[in-house]
Amino acid sequence: MTESDVHTLTGPYVLDALPEDERTLFEAHLAGCTFCATEVAELREAAVKLATQVATPPPPSLKPNVLAAIDHVRQVPPLVAGHRGAPARKRFTRRSVLTLAAAALAVAGVGGVAVDQYREKTDAVQANDQITAVLAQPDARTVRGPVAGGGQATIVMSPSADEAVVVLNDLPRLRAGRTWQLWMIDPSKTAHSVGLASGDVTRVLDGSVTGMIAFGLTNEPDGGSATPSQPAAATIPMT
Ligand SMILES: [Zn+2]
Repeated sequence: MTESDVHTLTGPYVLDALPEDERTLFEAHLAGCTFCATEVAELREAAVKLATQVATPPPPSLKPNVLAAIDHVRQVPPLVAGHRGAPARKRFTRRSVLTLAAAALAVAGVGGVAVDQYREKTDAVQANDQITAVLAQPDARTVRGPVAGGGQATIVMSPSADEAVVVLNDLPRLRAGRTWQLWMIDPSKTAHSVGLASGDVTRVLDGSVTGMIAFGLTNEPDGGSATPSQPAAATIPMT
């Protein structure tokens, strides 16, 4: 990965879509790169806003914008001051950051996505259809709650479509060898795992939503657990 390439990884990083080795490299880069740090913060903020914008259906222009944004994120790294030899490029505007966040939402999938998938437009279109479907459902609604130690979990769900969008933001940093695990809790209080995350993430859950009474988030050993460890970092009623 070249120094120029690393600036393009903000989107996949926010999605928790980087393989472990690239994530470690990018976090080292992030600590010293104001541009990427700002980009990551704006993407996370925008993702939360988009996920809570359920009152109005997404504009018809969303899909072309998503595809444009994906081209954009892969090919145009943010301009770095004093980066010799780099062409003078405008940084993302507020609008394009929002569009990019839509793309970020669009490519999130159950269990996370690999970077290779992120590069696949067909997968992005498919995932975009999913999120559009959730947000456009007449019964779509939002619940949110705090995460122990800091941060917030937001769930936009449509029981009729059996789909949900989960946005985790500003979570506390995990210790080495630990992972976040996401759960859906049924009326008999049985928790069903719906995925793992190494940090702040936006996920589309397709299935495992209808009839569930709560969302749970726990801190587990790498690889996850069969049942949630107590106490949970967050338990958010969905009914
Ligand atoms: Zn950077």
